Amino acid sequence: MDSLYPWLQPLWTQLQKALTQDRLPNSIMIESADGLGEQQLIDALGKALLCSNSTDEGCGFCHSCQLFAAGTHPDYHRLMPLETKKQISVDQVRELNRFAAESSQLSGKRVLVVTLAEQMNSSASNALLKTLEEPPSQCVFVVLTHAKSQLLPTVVSRCQQWHVSPPSIEQTQHWIAEQSLSVSDLALTLYAQAPLKLNEFTENQSDELASLIKLLTKDNLLVEQSKIVAILTSEPQRSLEQLSIVLHMALRHFAQPYEGLETILTPVCNRWDFGTLSRMVERLDIMRAELRAHPGLNTELLLIEWLTYWHE
Ligand SMILES: [Zn+2]
Repeated sequence: MDSLYPWLQPLWTQLQKALTQDRLPNSIMIESADGLGEQQLIDALGKALLCSNSTDEGCGFCHSCQLFAAGTHPDYHRLMPLETKKQISVDQVRELNRFAAESSQLSGKRVLVVTLAEQMNSSASNALLKTLEEPPSQCVFVVLTHAKSQLLPTVVSRCQQWHVSPPSIEQTQHWIAEQSLSVSDLALTLYAQAPLKLNEFTENQSDELASLIKLLTKDNLLVEQSKIVAILTSEPQRSLEQLSIVLHMALRHFAQPYEGLETILTPVCNRWDFGTLSRMVERLDIMRAELRAHPGLNTELLLIEWLTYWHE
């Protein structure tokens, strides 16, 4: 499995150990931040579970591994939100349950994967829970989530827990060099711990965020208020998330300076003291949660209110 992203390797090694020792239960949950390519890990696990030659890694040669590689393995079922919908519906989980109740096509295990499990609505969660409580024999459920706290606690407690640790900045820098990617300091600041998101960061976004940070480090914020608000309201969810990441990194930069990210983070730390910055990040994250929960809220007003705190 030499193509696995390097930051997935430690967890994969642990999972392989559990596979070898036959310690893996029939429901496991993998928690991972977005942007880590965790699907690779799920595929490696599915392939290993279904392989008829080997226990801790797909051999790549057996009938099962070949079907897996072709994406047509009849005993591997992956559930994810439909493209047009944000939620995983109860019908989708019922279909998964029906699949689980059938017998294996290759007289081995069946592997059922639920990706982005936090997007199950409550009836879908309950339907999954029912199956997890009485799992059909020879079925392994793999639940992947980016937000464990949003899952039904009873679903979480039914599963053995695994966690993908994000890479360190050094690891990401190393990976970037290996891939010969050219990445700006700002992009690295944002996605040091979610490297696969680097590709989605456009030049336009980068310019916007850079000017935003520059504005936020000026002496008088009220003078800059309309410019700041204009940048943040064009695509609020995305730009507020990016701002939040940079400010969180700046907070950590106070205690342990990030080598290679000084050009972005040091001006923020010079302009704001730790206490003020941490209160503002806290308020920013509350505002983001409110906007997610109530999309009808007036973003502009909330932002102006937020900026006046900075000014005090
Ligand atoms: Zn195989």
